[in-house]
Amino acid sequence: MVKPFIIGTRNSREMLHIGAEILRKGGTAMDAVEAATRSVEENPDDHSVGLGGIPNLLGVPQMDASIMDGRTLRTGAVAALEGYLHPISVARKVLELSPHVLLVGPGAALFARAVGFEDTELLTDESRDIYKAFVEDALGSIEDERRREYLVSYVEDYNLRDWYEKLSEEHWGTVNIMAMDAKGDICSGVSTSGLSLKLPGRVGDSPIIGAGNYCDNRVGAAACTGRGEFAIRLSTARAIINRMENGASIREACVWAMRDIHALNEPGGISCLALDRNGNTMSASTRRESTHYYMDVDSEGSEERLGVWVKNKEERT
Ligand code: ASP
Repeated sequence: MVKPFIIGTRNSREMLHIGAEILRKGGTAMDAVEAATRSVEENPDDHSVGLGGIPNLLGVPQMDASIMDGRTLRTGAVAALEGYLHPISVARKVLELSPHVLLVGPGAALFARAVGFEDTELLTDESRDIYKAFVEDALGSIEDERRREYLVSYVEDYNLRDWYEKLSEEHWGTVNIMAMDAKGDICSGVSTSGLSLKLPGRVGDSPIIGAGNYCDNRVGAAACTGRGEFAIRLSTARAIINRMENGASIREACVWAMRDIHALNEPGGISCLALDRNGNTMSASTRRESTHYYMDVDSEGSEERLGVWVKNKEERT
């Protein structure tokens, strides 16, 4: 039996300690993943997840999140959710209380309110300043009431693909967290404010099951960060699981998935995080040294683990 453990793409604010403590007390993988993710969502200094996340092009933070239970394959997800501090918890309620998998926009917010979440201002002074700097830089000083109109014509006139490519280099970030509990159940959670300054209504890979998140006790879990459109187009998370199901090692599966991204031959990149049912963990990236963080119920602190930087055509460990 594998020792219960939790992994994440980062370890800000002791998030893995929070999750490991839950596992230590006999909590479920889902409880651990949700609690660890919440700690990132409420961190205002993190501009890619939850509170303080950089807003969309109109200055509105829109969150994407998903959570998947590896035992039942039940899933909950929200996309373009506005005004709720913990998208991961709303996603969990979608899984637990609704017959659906994914709720979006105003419908997701309505559901959040109906199941008892309080709405919250997610813009912070800092994220508002970052947004304003962008708007002023891009549009000059425009009266507030005319901004929307200007932004619309800006989008129409601008070469949106070029602009988006520029953004994707600088404005990225998502948290992936996975855990295995004492019963051997696996859970995987993903939360993000998505691509900064995205078009309103743009949905990334994080809430799309099979793209940015997938989890199956019989095989393992996989999740992504980076340019979500790639992971959606290639079903990256599910593809990693498929490879492992067909006999690839976790490392081979992650490397293969990153090569698949390179094969698109487009600007931008993807990183992935994975675990297998034997408790092995791995991360890989098309664009940088890849690391992830691990903690089990006996660890005193989190351990940084090196993944694989899959360069175009060649691999470096
Ligand atoms: N994958 C996220 C998205 O496309 C953002 C990111 O991880 O950079 O929304």
